[in-house]
Amino acid sequence: MDFELTEDQRAFAETARQFAQSEFAPHAAQWDEEAVFPREAIAKAGELGFCGLYAPENAGGLALPRLDTTLVFEELAAVDPSTTAFISIHNMATWMLGTWATDAVRAEWGEALTSGQKLASYCLTEPGSGSDAASIKTRAELQGSEYLINGGKAFISGAGSTDLLVLMARTGDAGAGGISAFAVPAQLPGISYGKKEHKMGWNSQPTRTISFDNVRIPASHLLGREGEGFKIAMKGLDGGRINIATCSVGAAQGALAHAQRYLQERKQFGKQLSSFQALQFKLADMATNLVAARQMVRLAASKLDAGAPDATTYCAMAKRFATDACFEVINDALQLHGGYGYLRDFPLERLLRDARVHQILEGTNEIMRVIVGRRMLDGDAPDAIR
Ligand SMILES: Cc1cc2nc3c(=O)[nH]c(=O)nc-3n(C[C@H](O)[C@H](O)[C@H](O)COP(=O)(O)OP(=O)(O)OC[C@H]3O[C@@H](n4cnc5c(N)ncnc54)[C@H](O)[C@@H]3O)c2cc1C
Repeated sequence: MDFELTEDQRAFAETARQFAQSEFAPHAAQWDEEAVFPREAIAKAGELGFCGLYAPENAGGLALPRLDTTLVFEELAAVDPSTTAFISIHNMATWMLGTWATDAVRAEWGEALTSGQKLASYCLTEPGSGSDAASIKTRAELQGSEYLINGGKAFISGAGSTDLLVLMARTGDAGAGGISAFAVPAQLPGISYGKKEHKMGWNSQPTRTISFDNVRIPASHLLGREGEGFKIAMKGLDGGRINIATCSVGAAQGALAHAQRYLQERKQFGKQLSSFQALQFKLADMATNLVAARQMVRLAASKLDAGAPDATTYCAMAKRFATDACFEVINDALQLHGGYGYLRDFPLERLLRDARVHQILEGTNEIMRVIVGRRMLDGDAPDAIR
Protein backbone atom coordinates (compact mmCIF):
# COMPACT_ATOMS: atom_id res chain seq x y z
CA MET A 1 0.00 0.00 0.00
CA ASP A 2 1.60 3.27 -1.15
CA PHE A 3 -0.07 6.54 -0.27
CA GLU A 4 2.43 8.72 -2.15
CA LEU A 5 1.61 10.24 -5.52
CA THR A 6 3.98 9.43 -8.37
CA GLU A 7 6.02 12.18 -10.03
CA ASP A 8 3.69 12.06 -13.03
CA GLN A 9 0.65 12.48 -10.81
CA ARG A 10 2.25 15.46 -9.06
CA ALA A 11 3.12 17.03 -12.40
CA PHE A 12 -0.43 16.52 -13.62
CA ALA A 13 -1.85 18.14 -10.48
CA GLU A 14 0.57 21.04 -10.91
CA THR A 15 -0.63 21.59 -14.48
CA ALA A 16 -4.20 21.72 -13.21
CA ARG A 17 -3.21 24.12 -10.41
CA GLN A 18 -1.56 26.51 -12.86
CA PHE A 19 -4.51 26.29 -15.23
CA ALA A 20 -6.94 27.07 -12.39
CA GLN A 21 -4.85 30.07 -11.34
CA SER A 22 -4.58 31.52 -14.82
CA GLU A 23 -8.00 30.68 -16.30
CA PHE A 24 -10.41 30.43 -13.34
CA ALA A 25 -9.05 32.56 -10.49
CA PRO A 26 -9.31 35.97 -12.19
CA HIS A 27 -12.94 35.35 -13.24
CA ALA A 28 -14.61 32.93 -10.81
CA ALA A 29 -16.23 35.65 -8.66
CA GLN A 30 -17.62 37.43 -11.72
CA TRP A 31 -18.93 34.21 -13.27
CA ASP A 32 -20.74 33.56 -9.98
CA GLU A 33 -22.04 37.12 -9.58
CA GLU A 34 -23.27 37.46 -13.18
CA ALA A 35 -24.19 33.79 -13.72
CA VAL A 36 -21.84 33.49 -16.70
CA PHE A 37 -21.30 30.02 -18.18
CA PRO A 38 -17.57 30.14 -19.07
CA ARG A 39 -17.73 28.26 -22.36
CA GLU A 40 -14.30 29.49 -23.53
CA ALA A 41 -12.52 28.56 -20.29
CA ILE A 42 -14.09 25.09 -20.45
CA ALA A 43 -12.88 24.71 -24.05
CA LYS A 44 -9.37 25.67 -22.86
CA ALA A 45 -9.65 23.00 -20.16
CA GLY A 46 -10.54 20.65 -23.02
CA GLU A 47 -7.27 21.51 -24.78
CA LEU A 48 -5.45 20.04 -21.76
CA GLY A 49 -7.59 16.89 -21.86
CA PHE A 50 -9.70 17.87 -18.84
CA CYS A 51 -13.00 17.29 -20.69
CA GLY A 52 -12.28 13.62 -21.37
CA LEU A 53 -10.10 12.65 -18.44
CA TYR A 54 -11.37 9.09 -18.04
CA ALA A 55 -13.28 8.67 -21.29
CA PRO A 56 -11.91 5.80 -23.40
CA GLU A 57 -9.14 6.51 -25.89
CA ASN A 58 -11.30 5.45 -28.85
CA ALA A 59 -13.53 8.42 -27.99
CA GLY A 60 -10.51 10.75 -27.84
CA GLY A 61 -10.30 10.55 -24.03
CA LEU A 62 -7.20 10.20 -21.86
CA ALA A 63 -8.57 6.99 -20.23
CA LEU A 64 -6.91 8.01 -16.96
CA PRO A 65 -7.52 6.16 -13.70
CA ARG A 66 -10.21 7.78 -11.55
CA LEU A 67 -7.58 8.45 -8.92
CA ASP A 68 -5.62 10.65 -11.34
CA THR A 69 -8.84 12.37 -12.35
CA THR A 70 -9.43 13.44 -8.74
CA LEU A 71 -6.05 15.21 -8.73
CA VAL A 72 -7.19 17.47 -11.57
CA PHE A 73 -10.68 18.18 -10.25
CA GLU A 74 -9.33 18.92 -6.78
CA GLU A 75 -6.99 21.63 -8.09
CA LEU A 76 -9.66 23.20 -10.28
CA ALA A 77 -12.31 23.12 -7.53
CA ALA A 78 -10.00 24.82 -5.04
CA VAL A 79 -10.56 27.92 -7.16
CA ASP A 80 -14.00 27.40 -8.73
CA PRO A 81 -16.12 24.44 -7.54
CA SER A 82 -19.08 25.40 -9.72
CA THR A 83 -17.30 25.39 -13.07
CA THR A 84 -15.29 22.33 -12.05
CA ALA A 85 -18.43 20.45 -11.06
CA PHE A 86 -19.90 21.14 -14.48
CA ILE A 87 -16.71 19.86 -16.14
CA SER A 88 -16.97 16.76 -13.95
CA ILE A 89 -20.57 16.10 -15.03
CA HIS A 90 -19.51 16.58 -18.65
CA ASN A 91 -16.72 14.02 -18.05
CA MET A 92 -19.24 11.56 -16.59
CA ALA A 93 -21.64 11.90 -19.54
CA THR A 94 -18.75 11.72 -22.02
CA TRP A 95 -17.45 8.54 -20.37
CA MET A 96 -20.93 7.01 -20.66
CA LEU A 97 -21.08 7.87 -24.35
CA GLY A 98 -17.53 6.64 -24.94
CA THR A 99 -18.22 3.37 -23.15
CA TRP A 100 -21.68 2.43 -24.43
CA ALA A 101 -22.39 4.27 -27.70
CA THR A 102 -22.45 2.51 -31.05
CA ASP A 103 -19.29 3.00 -33.13
CA ALA A 104 -21.06 5.50 -35.39
CA VAL A 105 -22.35 7.67 -32.54
CA ARG A 106 -19.01 7.50 -30.73
CA ALA A 107 -17.26 8.56 -33.94
CA GLU A 108 -19.69 11.45 -34.39
CA TRP A 109 -19.55 12.80 -30.83
CA GLY A 110 -16.54 11.34 -29.00
CA GLU A 111 -13.75 13.72 -30.00
CA ALA A 112 -16.00 16.75 -30.02
CA LEU A 113 -16.89 16.03 -26.38
CA THR A 114 -13.49 14.95 -25.08
CA SER A 115 -11.90 18.05 -26.62
CA GLY A 116 -14.48 20.29 -24.93
CA GLN A 117 -15.65 21.73 -28.26
CA LYS A 118 -19.08 20.24 -27.52
CA LEU A 119 -20.57 19.70 -24.07
CA ALA A 120 -22.85 17.07 -22.56
CA SER A 121 -25.54 16.94 -19.86
CA TYR A 122 -26.62 13.96 -17.74
CA CYS A 123 -30.42 13.70 -17.73
CA LEU A 124 -31.95 11.41 -15.11
CA THR A 125 -33.97 13.47 -12.60
CA GLU A 126 -37.61 14.32 -13.32
CA PRO A 127 -40.03 16.61 -11.46
CA GLY A 128 -41.66 13.57 -9.79
CA SER A 129 -38.59 11.35 -9.65
CA GLY A 130 -35.50 12.43 -7.71
CA SER A 131 -34.14 10.04 -5.10
CA ASP A 132 -36.43 7.33 -6.48
CA ALA A 133 -34.64 7.49 -9.82
CA ALA A 134 -35.98 4.11 -11.02
CA SER A 135 -39.48 5.62 -11.16
CA ILE A 136 -38.80 7.94 -14.13
CA LYS A 137 -41.69 8.36 -16.58
CA THR A 138 -40.09 9.90 -19.68
CA ARG A 139 -40.78 7.35 -22.42
CA ALA A 140 -38.86 6.28 -25.50
CA GLU A 141 -40.87 4.11 -27.88
CA LEU A 142 -39.26 2.19 -30.68
CA GLN A 143 -41.05 2.92 -33.96
CA GLY A 144 -39.31 1.24 -36.87
CA SER A 145 -35.72 2.49 -36.90
CA GLU A 146 -36.37 5.42 -34.54
CA TYR A 147 -37.26 6.09 -30.93
CA LEU A 148 -40.02 8.60 -30.16
CA ILE A 149 -39.33 10.42 -26.88
CA ASN A 150 -41.90 12.16 -24.69
CA GLY A 151 -41.60 13.48 -21.15
CA GLY A 152 -39.58 15.89 -19.10
CA LYS A 153 -36.45 16.23 -16.98
CA ALA A 154 -35.71 18.59 -14.08
CA PHE A 155 -32.56 20.10 -12.57
CA ILE A 156 -30.34 19.32 -15.56
CA SER A 157 -26.88 20.85 -15.24
CA GLY A 158 -25.77 22.70 -18.32
CA ALA A 159 -29.18 22.31 -20.00
CA GLY A 160 -29.76 24.88 -22.71
CA SER A 161 -26.01 25.40 -23.17
CA THR A 162 -24.91 21.84 -23.93
CA ASP A 163 -24.86 19.97 -27.22
CA LEU A 164 -25.63 16.39 -26.22
CA LEU A 165 -28.05 14.94 -23.67
CA VAL A 166 -27.25 11.57 -22.12
CA LEU A 167 -30.86 10.70 -21.43
CA MET A 168 -32.42 7.97 -19.31
CA ALA A 169 -35.93 7.08 -20.51
CA ARG A 170 -38.39 4.26 -20.09
CA THR A 171 -38.59 1.73 -22.91
CA GLY A 172 -40.21 -1.06 -20.90
CA ASP A 173 -42.23 -1.77 -17.79
CA ALA A 174 -42.07 0.00 -14.42
CA GLY A 175 -38.86 -0.27 -12.40
CA ALA A 176 -35.15 -0.11 -13.09
CA GLY A 177 -35.19 -2.89 -15.70
CA GLY A 178 -37.50 -0.89 -17.98
CA ILE A 179 -35.06 2.01 -18.40
CA SER A 180 -32.72 2.61 -21.34
CA ALA A 181 -30.06 5.24 -21.99
CA PHE A 182 -29.68 7.37 -25.11
CA ALA A 183 -27.39 9.93 -26.69
CA VAL A 184 -29.72 12.73 -27.78
CA PRO A 185 -28.49 15.78 -29.73
CA ALA A 186 -29.64 18.72 -27.62
CA GLN A 187 -31.19 20.85 -30.36
CA LEU A 188 -33.51 18.30 -32.01
CA PRO A 189 -37.04 19.44 -32.93
CA GLY A 190 -39.39 18.86 -29.96
CA ILE A 191 -36.78 19.59 -27.27
CA SER A 192 -37.41 22.77 -25.26
CA TYR A 193 -35.74 24.23 -22.19
CA GLY A 194 -37.19 25.91 -19.11
CA LYS A 195 -35.93 29.14 -17.55
CA LYS A 196 -32.52 29.23 -15.92
CA GLU A 197 -33.10 28.26 -12.28
CA HIS A 198 -32.12 30.83 -9.63
CA LYS A 199 -29.79 28.96 -7.31
CA MET A 200 -27.91 29.45 -4.06
CA GLY A 201 -24.62 28.51 -5.76
CA TRP A 202 -23.32 26.75 -8.87
CA ASN A 203 -24.08 30.02 -10.66
CA SER A 204 -21.44 29.62 -13.36
CA GLN A 205 -23.45 26.77 -14.86
CA PRO A 206 -27.10 26.88 -15.91
CA THR A 207 -29.66 24.44 -14.49
CA ARG A 208 -32.91 24.00 -16.41
CA THR A 209 -35.84 21.69 -16.99
CA ILE A 210 -36.07 19.97 -20.37
CA SER A 211 -39.25 18.93 -22.21
CA PHE A 212 -39.36 16.25 -24.88
CA ASP A 213 -42.35 16.49 -27.19
CA ASN A 214 -42.37 13.79 -29.89
CA VAL A 215 -38.59 13.92 -30.27
CA ARG A 216 -37.27 11.43 -32.83
CA ILE A 217 -33.80 9.87 -32.68
CA PRO A 218 -32.30 7.02 -34.74
CA ALA A 219 -32.32 3.69 -32.87
CA SER A 220 -28.52 3.69 -33.19
CA HIS A 221 -28.44 6.37 -30.45
CA LEU A 222 -29.29 3.79 -27.79
CA LEU A 223 -26.43 3.36 -25.29
CA GLY A 224 -25.81 -0.30 -24.51
CA ARG A 225 -28.92 -2.45 -24.86
CA GLU A 226 -32.58 -1.77 -24.10
CA GLY A 227 -33.19 -2.20 -20.36
CA GLU A 228 -29.57 -1.49 -19.40
CA GLY A 229 -30.10 2.25 -18.92
CA PHE A 230 -30.46 2.27 -15.14
CA LYS A 231 -27.32 0.18 -14.72
CA ILE A 232 -25.45 2.53 -17.07
CA ALA A 233 -26.79 5.57 -15.20
CA MET A 234 -25.65 4.15 -11.84
CA LYS A 235 -22.22 3.19 -13.21
CA GLY A 236 -21.87 6.77 -14.39
CA LEU A 237 -22.82 7.99 -10.93
CA ASP A 238 -20.24 5.82 -9.14
CA GLY A 239 -17.57 7.92 -10.84
CA GLY A 240 -19.73 11.05 -10.65
CA ARG A 241 -19.93 10.74 -6.87
CA ILE A 242 -16.15 10.59 -6.62
CA ASN A 243 -15.99 13.66 -8.84
CA ILE A 244 -18.48 15.63 -6.75
CA ALA A 245 -16.78 14.53 -3.52
CA THR A 246 -13.50 15.72 -5.04
CA CYS A 247 -15.03 19.10 -5.84
CA SER A 248 -15.83 19.38 -2.11
CA VAL A 249 -12.28 18.36 -1.16
CA GLY A 250 -10.90 20.97 -3.56
CA ALA A 251 -13.22 23.70 -2.27
CA ALA A 252 -12.26 22.84 1.32
CA GLN A 253 -8.56 22.90 0.40
CA GLY A 254 -9.03 26.34 -1.15
CA ALA A 255 -10.94 27.59 1.92
CA LEU A 256 -8.38 26.16 4.33
CA ALA A 257 -5.50 27.87 2.50
CA HIS A 258 -7.35 31.20 2.71
CA ALA A 259 -7.99 30.69 6.44
CA GLN A 260 -4.39 29.75 7.13
CA ARG A 261 -3.13 32.92 5.44
CA TYR A 262 -5.77 35.10 7.10
CA LEU A 263 -4.90 33.94 10.62
CA GLN A 264 -1.31 34.98 9.98
CA GLU A 265 -2.29 38.41 8.64
CA ARG A 266 -5.15 39.56 10.84
CA LYS A 267 -4.49 41.05 14.27
CA GLN A 268 -6.89 41.43 17.19
CA PHE A 269 -6.12 42.14 20.86
CA GLY A 270 -2.66 43.26 19.67
CA LYS A 271 -1.75 39.81 18.41
CA GLN A 272 -2.00 37.78 15.22
CA LEU A 273 -5.09 35.57 15.21
CA SER A 274 -2.73 32.64 14.62
CA SER A 275 -1.33 33.06 18.12
CA PHE A 276 -4.66 32.06 19.73
CA GLN A 277 -4.54 28.37 20.54
CA ALA A 278 -8.30 27.96 20.09
CA LEU A 279 -7.85 28.99 16.47
CA GLN A 280 -4.77 26.80 16.01
CA PHE A 281 -6.87 23.86 17.23
CA LYS A 282 -9.63 24.81 14.80
CA LEU A 283 -7.13 24.86 11.94
CA ALA A 284 -5.72 21.49 13.05
CA ASP A 285 -9.20 19.92 13.07
CA MET A 286 -10.00 21.38 9.66
CA ALA A 287 -6.79 19.97 8.17
CA THR A 288 -7.41 16.57 9.79
CA ASN A 289 -10.95 16.34 8.44
CA LEU A 290 -9.84 17.48 5.01
CA VAL A 291 -7.13 14.83 4.82
CA ALA A 292 -9.56 12.14 6.01
CA ALA A 293 -12.04 13.16 3.30
CA ARG A 294 -9.36 13.23 0.59
CA GLN A 295 -8.03 9.80 1.55
CA MET A 296 -11.53 8.34 1.57
CA VAL A 297 -12.20 9.73 -1.90
CA ARG A 298 -8.91 8.37 -3.20
CA LEU A 299 -9.66 4.97 -1.68
CA ALA A 300 -13.06 4.90 -3.42
CA ALA A 301 -11.43 6.00 -6.68
CA SER A 302 -8.84 3.22 -6.44
CA LYS A 303 -11.65 0.70 -5.74
CA LEU A 304 -13.37 1.84 -8.93
CA ASP A 305 -10.08 1.63 -10.86
CA ALA A 306 -9.57 -1.94 -9.61
CA GLY A 307 -13.16 -2.91 -10.53
CA ALA A 308 -13.67 -4.01 -6.92
CA PRO A 309 -17.11 -5.53 -6.21
CA ASP A 310 -17.60 -3.13 -3.27
CA ALA A 311 -16.65 -0.01 -5.28
CA THR A 312 -20.23 1.33 -5.30
CA THR A 313 -20.37 1.16 -1.50
CA TYR A 314 -17.06 2.98 -1.16
CA CYS A 315 -18.14 5.63 -3.67
CA ALA A 316 -21.32 6.24 -1.65
CA MET A 317 -19.39 6.38 1.64
CA ALA A 318 -16.81 8.76 0.19
CA LYS A 319 -19.43 11.04 -1.33
CA ARG A 320 -21.39 11.22 1.92
CA PHE A 321 -18.37 11.72 4.14
CA ALA A 322 -16.36 14.11 1.99
CA THR A 323 -19.23 16.41 1.05
CA ASP A 324 -20.36 16.68 4.69
CA ALA A 325 -16.88 17.01 6.23
CA CYS A 326 -15.65 19.48 3.62
CA PHE A 327 -18.75 21.65 3.93
CA GLU A 328 -17.89 22.00 7.62
CA VAL A 329 -14.26 22.83 6.79
CA ILE A 330 -15.40 25.62 4.47
CA ASN A 331 -17.88 26.89 7.04
CA ASP A 332 -15.11 26.97 9.68
CA ALA A 333 -12.83 28.83 7.26
CA LEU A 334 -15.59 31.39 6.75
CA GLN A 335 -15.97 31.72 10.53
CA LEU A 336 -12.24 32.31 10.93
CA HIS A 337 -12.56 35.31 8.61
CA GLY A 338 -15.12 36.88 10.95
CA GLY A 339 -17.41 39.39 9.18
CA TYR A 340 -15.11 39.49 6.16
CA GLY A 341 -15.89 35.84 5.47
CA TYR A 342 -19.49 36.84 4.89
CA LEU A 343 -18.58 39.47 2.27
CA ARG A 344 -18.22 38.77 -1.43
CA ASP A 345 -14.80 40.48 -1.31
CA PHE A 346 -13.48 37.10 -0.14
CA PRO A 347 -14.19 33.76 -1.86
CA LEU A 348 -15.33 31.95 1.31
CA GLU A 349 -19.07 32.55 0.96
CA ARG A 350 -18.92 31.50 -2.73
CA LEU A 351 -17.06 28.29 -1.88
CA LEU A 352 -19.67 27.59 0.82
CA ARG A 353 -22.65 28.25 -1.47
CA ASP A 354 -21.13 26.11 -4.23
CA ALA A 355 -20.27 23.18 -1.95
CA ARG A 356 -23.72 23.03 -0.33
CA VAL A 357 -25.38 21.33 -3.28
CA HIS A 358 -22.81 18.52 -3.25
CA GLN A 359 -24.69 17.13 -0.25
CA ILE A 360 -27.86 17.02 -2.38
CA LEU A 361 -27.09 15.94 -5.93
CA GLU A 362 -25.83 12.80 -7.63
CA GLY A 363 -27.84 11.08 -4.89
CA THR A 364 -28.53 12.94 -1.65
CA ASN A 365 -26.42 12.07 1.35
CA GLU A 366 -29.45 10.28 2.81
CA ILE A 367 -29.52 8.08 -0.29
CA MET A 368 -25.78 7.45 0.15
CA ARG A 369 -26.64 6.07 3.60
CA VAL A 370 -29.44 3.98 2.07
CA ILE A 371 -26.90 2.44 -0.35
CA VAL A 372 -24.30 1.69 2.34
CA GLY A 373 -26.79 0.50 4.97
CA ARG A 374 -28.65 -1.75 2.55
CA ARG A 375 -25.43 -3.41 1.38
CA MET A 376 -24.29 -4.00 4.95
CA LEU A 377 -27.58 -5.62 5.90
CA ASP A 378 -27.72 -7.66 2.70
CA GLY A 379 -24.41 -9.25 3.73
CA ASP A 380 -22.73 -7.41 0.86
CA ALA A 381 -20.57 -5.16 3.05
CA PRO A 382 -17.02 -4.31 2.06
CA ASP A 383 -14.36 -6.47 3.69
CA ALA A 384 -13.05 -3.52 5.65
CA ILE A 385 -16.29 -3.09 7.63
CA ARG A 386 -17.27 -6.71 8.33
C1 LIG B 1 -28.08 22.42 -8.75
C2 LIG B 1 -28.56 21.03 -9.09
C3 LIG B 1 -28.04 20.39 -10.22
C4 LIG B 1 -28.48 19.11 -10.54
N1 LIG B 1 -28.00 18.52 -11.67
C5 LIG B 1 -28.56 17.35 -12.11
C6 LIG B 1 -28.19 16.79 -13.38
O1 LIG B 1 -27.32 17.33 -14.09
N2 LIG B 1 -28.82 15.67 -13.78
C7 LIG B 1 -29.76 15.03 -13.04
O2 LIG B 1 -30.28 14.02 -13.49
N3 LIG B 1 -30.13 15.54 -11.82
C8 LIG B 1 -29.55 16.67 -11.35
N4 LIG B 1 -29.92 17.20 -10.13
C9 LIG B 1 -30.99 16.55 -9.38
C10 LIG B 1 -30.51 15.89 -8.08
O3 LIG B 1 -29.79 14.74 -8.35
C11 LIG B 1 -31.76 15.65 -7.21
O4 LIG B 1 -32.20 16.93 -6.77
C12 LIG B 1 -31.51 14.72 -6.05
O5 LIG B 1 -31.25 13.41 -6.50
C13 LIG B 1 -32.67 14.70 -5.05
O6 LIG B 1 -33.90 14.54 -5.68
P1 LIG B 1 -35.12 15.52 -5.28
O7 LIG B 1 -34.60 16.92 -5.42
O8 LIG B 1 -36.27 15.14 -6.10
O9 LIG B 1 -35.37 15.27 -3.76
P2 LIG B 1 -36.31 14.10 -3.12
O10 LIG B 1 -35.95 12.79 -3.71
O11 LIG B 1 -37.73 14.54 -3.20
O12 LIG B 1 -35.83 14.11 -1.59
C14 LIG B 1 -36.29 15.07 -0.64
C15 LIG B 1 -35.62 14.72 0.70
O13 LIG B 1 -36.04 13.42 1.13
C16 LIG B 1 -34.92 12.59 1.34
N5 LIG B 1 -35.24 11.21 0.96
C17 LIG B 1 -35.86 10.78 -0.18
N6 LIG B 1 -36.00 9.44 -0.17
C18 LIG B 1 -35.44 9.00 0.99
C19 LIG B 1 -35.27 7.71 1.60
N7 LIG B 1 -35.66 6.59 0.97
N8 LIG B 1 -34.68 7.66 2.82
C20 LIG B 1 -34.24 8.77 3.44
N9 LIG B 1 -34.38 10.01 2.92
C21 LIG B 1 -34.96 10.13 1.71
C22 LIG B 1 -33.84 13.17 0.45
O14 LIG B 1 -32.54 12.79 0.87
C23 LIG B 1 -34.10 14.65 0.60
O15 LIG B 1 -33.50 15.12 1.79
C24 LIG B 1 -29.44 18.46 -9.74
C25 LIG B 1 -29.93 19.11 -8.59
C26 LIG B 1 -29.49 20.37 -8.25
C27 LIG B 1 -30.04 21.04 -7.03
